[in-house]
Amino acid sequence: MPNRPAPTDPFDLVVFGGTGDLTYRKLLPALYHREPVGHICEDARIIAVSRRQLTDEEYREWAGKAICEHVKDVDQDALGRFLKRIQYVSVDVAQNTGWEALEEKLAGREDVIRAFYLSVSPDFFGPICSALGEHNLVTEKSRVTIEKPIGKDGTSAHEVNETVGSVFKEHQIFRIDHYLGKETVQNLMALRFANVLFEPLWNSAHIDHVQITVAETLGVESRAGYYDTAGALRDMVQNHLLQLLCLVAMEAPESMAPDSVRDEKLKVLKALRRMTPEMVERNTVRGQYRSGASAGGAVRGYLEELGNDTSTTETFVAAKVDIANWRWANVPFYLRTGKRLASRVSEITIQFKDVPHSIFLPDAGRIAANKLVIRLQPDEGVKMQVMIKDPGPGSMRLREVPLDMTFAEAFNARHPDAYERLIMDMIRGNQTLFMRRDEVEAAWAWIDPILSHWSHVKESPKPYTSGTWGPSSSIALIERDGRTWHDESD
Ligand code: NAD
Repeated sequence: MPNRPAPTDPFDLVVFGGTGDLTYRKLLPALYHREPVGHICEDARIIAVSRRQLTDEEYREWAGKAICEHVKDVDQDALGRFLKRIQYVSVDVAQNTGWEALEEKLAGREDVIRAFYLSVSPDFFGPICSALGEHNLVTEKSRVTIEKPIGKDGTSAHEVNETVGSVFKEHQIFRIDHYLGKETVQNLMALRFANVLFEPLWNSAHIDHVQITVAETLGVESRAGYYDTAGALRDMVQNHLLQLLCLVAMEAPESMAPDSVRDEKLKVLKALRRMTPEMVERNTVRGQYRSGASAGGAVRGYLEELGNDTSTTETFVAAKVDIANWRWANVPFYLRTGKRLASRVSEITIQFKDVPHSIFLPDAGRIAANKLVIRLQPDEGVKMQVMIKDPGPGSMRLREVPLDMTFAEAFNARHPDAYERLIMDMIRGNQTLFMRRDEVEAAWAWIDPILSHWSHVKESPKPYTSGTWGPSSSIALIERDGRTWHDESD
């Protein structure tokens, strides 16, 4: 029988940015999914907040559209129940107006969980938190969720943390990295710590190197304005890729308790070898896509999409990363991420070492080293490449085969979106899958020297054609070590 969590305690979820893209595409559909399965208790309300003047009815109509567009097989009864929970309040954060209406809406419910979700520009995190404090809207049972990006470097991240932290206590702050809510990412923890097989091999004696690839086929499109102020290092590496690296590299936590897990991740972040300018030159590659073909059609280059041909923002990063501790000594972690790449794939490859000695004759064929591939998207699953004997008579010949566990086939179940789990965890007050302040700041401490060197040398990123695997220097980055990027068709 599937393990069905009990309904939540009563709550008011206040979503700032209630009319935004993230709310439309992700938050409302994710919340709706918890309705038919009974996870949202009867006495729960969702209060959408935004600048526009809308009635509850107008907002519910928009929310219903969001759900019907993004959810397969909507249950109309459940949708009706869900929409009834929603109310709308107009607050203009920039003008600092409308807070009284929110106060009124929340009055008398100080005893229920009060969860604020800030799905707005990070420039508003400070003003919203301050206003919530000034209007006495922060109760004992309050919590706040903030979306990425948390700052654009260590100093600004510290400022955001200070501002939010002046109103909410650390145990009330939920810094979301939606990668941590993905089923396969949590499966990585199950794989490592609920099996005896892997852990004895999970170290520099048996692992040659690790690769983490997060590749998108999409370009920046309508997000060009925001993206140009960030770039791939800030937008993807500082958070998602480093979080994945932490889950691969961390020691076994004492338990799944939030601070046990986050203490271990923090140790990994602190052990990342800081890059000197020479190391940045040698161990990182920046790229920017040009026109080409992607997803079957001709596409424009980044500069054309942006409408500014002087931008030096990177849309691709590859890096060779060292973790300076006993477990990972001399085991490089190769990271790469980019837009407009050859296919949409996110995966972690654990490349084991070669067997120490072959007992087979040369005509048995090459013995490929074992490889564990953890696929986050698409087709979430885990694949272990092992060597077997090619069946049949005659001399011994060896063949590499995958032991394949694609989760969709194994469980024949819908995969909940990361936001479904994360929002419910936040309402239940479980911070295990959320980043603690010191983690975010430690990640920036590793990123800052790279950003600083890049801005100092003022070099343009290497161009790459859309629909390829990025600049050729990213291939050289790994090949000069005698290794190759894992090809998903392997
Ligand atoms: P968006 O621009 O679509 O929405 C912003 C929301 O803020 C809108 O509801 C808008 O009405 C509201 N807003 C703007 N000015 C306001 C004001 N003065 N007062 C009150 N409300 C105001 O942005 P988005 O794409 O939904 O992103 C929201 C946050 O989530 C951002 O921090 C973004 O970086 C982050 N994020 C978005 C995505 C995504 O896929 N969209 C992914 C990851 C993180």
